[in-house]
Amino acid sequence: MKTLLALRALDFQRIIIMIIVLKPDTTPAEIEHVVERIHQLGLKPHVSTGEHRTIIGVIGDENKLQAQPLQAIPGVEQVLPIMKPFKLASREFSKKDTVVSVGKVKIGGGALGMIAGPCAIESREVLNEIAGHVKKAGANILRGGAFKPRTSPYSFQGLGEEGLKILRSVGDAHDMPVVTEVMDPRQIPLVEKYTDMFQIGARNMQNFDLLKEIGQTKTPVLMKRGMSATVKDLLMSAEYVLSEGNPNVVLCERGVRSFEDSTRNMLDMSAVPNVKGMSHLPIIVDPSHATGRPDLIPAMAMASVAAGADGVHIEVHSCPEKALSDGPQALLPPKYAEVMKQIRKLAELFGKTY
Ligand code: PEP
Ligand code: MN
Repeated sequence: MKTLLALRALDFQRIIIMIIVLKPDTTPAEIEHVVERIHQLGLKPHVSTGEHRTIIGVIGDENKLQAQPLQAIPGVEQVLPIMKPFKLASREFSKKDTVVSVGKVKIGGGALGMIAGPCAIESREVLNEIAGHVKKAGANILRGGAFKPRTSPYSFQGLGEEGLKILRSVGDAHDMPVVTEVMDPRQIPLVEKYTDMFQIGARNMQNFDLLKEIGQTKTPVLMKRGMSATVKDLLMSAEYVLSEGNPNVVLCERGVRSFEDSTRNMLDMSAVPNVKGMSHLPIIVDPSHATGRPDLIPAMAMASVAAGADGVHIEVHSCPEKALSDGPQALLPPKYAEVMKQIRKLAELFGKTY
């Protein structure tokens, strides 16, 4: 296992260096020939078949490639070196927006992932009540934490496996896929058993061993931006997951630390169009953790959709004062329903569906 990880780390250093864009009318035999040539050069091809054309990412040692006239192979239209440190996540790698499927729900390419639920799973009754409200309001993915990354070791840490079981059964009862946080590589098999999407929390965005292990699954990932992470850092973390073979990454802007202390974090709304220009991956916004304030969440949720986000993540609780985690920022179900009504109008205006 250790050697495998070491090898993978080595692999990662020698990562995609070029994108080969094939001509629109390239035949399967020509594609096969390009792939064969890449293998012969000791490099690894990563074929991505689009609606109109095929592109091939080339992984390997840069030095091996430079001398080779790949441009001369029949069917090759362009050979583009990728200068960015993130490769598979880059916009160059795919002009087309990636759509991630979470159960029956799609996120990206015009489909909005509307994630809602309590911060932590507290009991079947409470989760079931909240799920009923958010589903009715239009949410399509249920959230709830079973392993909570709390600042204090004395705060509620989550119900663990019992919480995961509750989440799964409540999600099924309301016909909603579920997302929950995984904090440690050792939790992956257990969490994977009960969830449709892994959440990587802000505090774990650069837990690279966790990212590598998650990359070896096919379960979709909600990758939250670290509180001191740049947009480039976020894309590099996504690259860790993608480079291990899991293409199902949804990014999440959830605010970053700043000097401003009237909000919990500083919501970087420009991250949405910024990421869209730099990457093909979907990006959603979490105004709950970004602002920490129920009075600001509705406006920021709407701004997210207007900015082009592929979804909104909101914490909802039927009794915030009794919530075991993040109560002060939770929206009450009627308020959530109101926001969702507004978002529906915006979604229609921008041609988005959910
Ligand atoms: C959460 O979603 O409850 C959470 C802890 O989020 P973040 O990692 O963004 O702080
Ligand atoms: Mn929370």
